Amino acid sequence: MATEQLEAAARVLESPLEQILAAKTAAAMADVLGCTTVGELLTYFPRRYAERGALADIATAAPGETVTLVGYVVGAHSRYMRSRRGKIYEFELSADPDDAGDVITVSFFNNRSLERVTRGTRLLVSGTVSVYREKRSLSHPDFEILSDDDAPDGTVDVRPVPIYPATKKVTSEHVRHSIRKILTAGLPPVLPDPLPEPLRRAESLMPYGEALQAIHAPEEVKDAYRARHRFKYEEAFLLQAVLATRRAAHQAEPATARPGRPDGVRAAFDARLPFELTAGQRETGTVIGAELAATKPMNRLLQGEVGSGKTVVALRALLQVVDSGAQTAFLAPTEVLAEQHFRSINALLGDLAGAGTLGSDPQAIRVELLTGSMPHSAKKKVLLGLASGEVDLVVGTHALLSENVSFAELGMIVVDEQHRFGVEQRDALRQRSATSPHVLIMTATPIPRTVAMTSFGDLAVSSLTELPAGRRPIASHVVALDSHPGWEQRIWERAREEIDAGRQVFVVCPLIEEPAVADPDAPPRASVESTFAYLQSQPHLAATRTAKLHGGMHSEDKEATMLAFAAGEIDLLVATTVIEVGVDVPNATLMIVLDADRFGVAQLHQLRGRIGRGGHDSLCLLVTSLPEGHPSVERLAKVASTTDGLELSEYDVETRKEGDILGAAQSGGASSLSLLRVVHDRDLIARARQAAFELVRRDPQLAGEPVLRQTIATMDEESKEYLERA
Ligand code: ADP
Ligand code: MG
Repeated sequence: MATEQLEAAARVLESPLEQILAAKTAAAMADVLGCTTVGELLTYFPRRYAERGALADIATAAPGETVTLVGYVVGAHSRYMRSRRGKIYEFELSADPDDAGDVITVSFFNNRSLERVTRGTRLLVSGTVSVYREKRSLSHPDFEILSDDDAPDGTVDVRPVPIYPATKKVTSEHVRHSIRKILTAGLPPVLPDPLPEPLRRAESLMPYGEALQAIHAPEEVKDAYRARHRFKYEEAFLLQAVLATRRAAHQAEPATARPGRPDGVRAAFDARLPFELTAGQRETGTVIGAELAATKPMNRLLQGEVGSGKTVVALRALLQVVDSGAQTAFLAPTEVLAEQHFRSINALLGDLAGAGTLGSDPQAIRVELLTGSMPHSAKKKVLLGLASGEVDLVVGTHALLSENVSFAELGMIVVDEQHRFGVEQRDALRQRSATSPHVLIMTATPIPRTVAMTSFGDLAVSSLTELPAGRRPIASHVVALDSHPGWEQRIWERAREEIDAGRQVFVVCPLIEEPAVADPDAPPRASVESTFAYLQSQPHLAATRTAKLHGGMHSEDKEATMLAFAAGEIDLLVATTVIEVGVDVPNATLMIVLDADRFGVAQLHQLRGRIGRGGHDSLCLLVTSLPEGHPSVERLAKVASTTDGLELSEYDVETRKEGDILGAAQSGGASSLSLLRVVHDRDLIARARQAAFELVRRDPQLAGEPVLRQTIATMDEESKEYLERA
């Protein structure tokens, strides 16, 4: 189509709503729905459709049935209530405007838009029939006031009625009439369509303009669903196209190949490894090794449960880069974790670390720690070493991102725990050197495939699925105090037994301390302070070395406590979720999570990963006071039933209702509803992903798809913000 024609059509979509709607209506659409242009309002989609075919008969609708009815108002009453402020509206609905025989009563509370309803008004209502004062009635059902537009010349319109997500201020009817007005005014015959034509044909998708017409004013409901499918696909495709172009842009940045050396420190490290790599570690290592040897920057996500051996894989990659003459950085989300990584990397390297110190291996590399709280002089020494190129591997926190850190030649960055690092930070890291460093991001949070395709869609993903030999399974149980109050005592006896056997115990609480003013409606919740005090008062735990750990403590105190626990100087640690990511304590074998219902599935799984890290059997008790059968208790039972993190995260995504992975921001414009449901639409997302990546591979600049290119440019910023929050 000619460019001018497209531009003219685009201008129609961009025109302000005031040009078509009354000023007051346009203002309401902007304030409440966030739609200011014609195009935005047209992407405010109906939630469902009331079908004429699905209409029940007013005369026979029976109590208990959920029905949609269309009828004429043959009786209308409203009155102010005596006991409460507000007004009740009651209407009698009949199928025949002139016959008040078989009526059903519909009643509403406080709804000013009903002031207009009088005898003769046609209403569409949907709800469940009940019996009130011996009359069949519907109380505050969903409703639509059908106007003459809906039934010109008095005939009954047989087309489905779109029902829009409504708010108090803007009703579904209000939206329906506004959109009808726009459609009646007429849209240009062809609208710019971000979906490439061949793809649309291959997927049998409606063109954009046709789909807008069909989703808002379908002749039949099946047309509306075809249109919905098109917009769903579009949503998936646009997101994937954003990710594909972003990935293509990264790939286009020059990187230096870091192939390593056969006789380097990496080979020496491999020769000394005290264990066999798992098959997964070997395979991932090969893939990463090849990517590092290429001149495109690596951008890879390595996922694997806590203890699956990611650190070893990362370290081998870092050594390959060091063998190629470049520097490397390992970033952790907190200082405590950075220090732990520093220690465990040093332990793994043995005398291959500590270059320059007396007695070190001639092949040894120089490994340093850099954190914000280090003394100035120590920091300065490391900074100098980084600038001069003498430091081969630096372990640190976000401090490494700060402006005054410069590397002689940074070749690779490993980021631990991706969820604390946003896209922006990834970009900042990349800019730390002249050529793009290779980036490996590690996460212990298992990522369902669909989420990997969306939130992490610009990264390549590797997974470590098997645990190294010698790891012991963790048994988990739900302890329901509501039905077994006696078990509370038993929990603490169990802790005593574990400690007597020389092991250590975590007790996790949802709160640091009880709120000063307790909510009388909420049951009391376990806090670190109250649990600590309680345990100290128990005679049989008196000899136990107990300590507290929570986010309200000074970081030195936190760290000292964690280290003392790791050293076995503390038997029982009462903590908040600060322990979620943390120091390895192989001797900790029991975790007691109090008020476990307060935590999400992923979080419980993550917490549980703190035990079962040594050669001993471990036990996790999920304690709750909620009654059995409560949905949160079912959630706990699910966590107790499996230690497969991927299964749990799939379950988590499936059971999450709103707050979909692809938020509204993703699909562009505050007005649009996200139609995609990540688990349900997994196959569609996968197809759209393949199509988008294929297209971008052939045409990285999207020169042949100007509408798509433009749409993506606008989306990119929004989705960056979204990915930041993910
Ligand atoms: P992650 O970083 O995935 O949590 P780590 O790399 O820290 O896991 O490994 C956890 C523990 O298992 C470490 O003590 C590590 O030395 C050990 N380990 C790693 N790979 C293996 C293996 N293939 N066989 C035996 N032990 C291993
Ligand atoms: Mg680790």
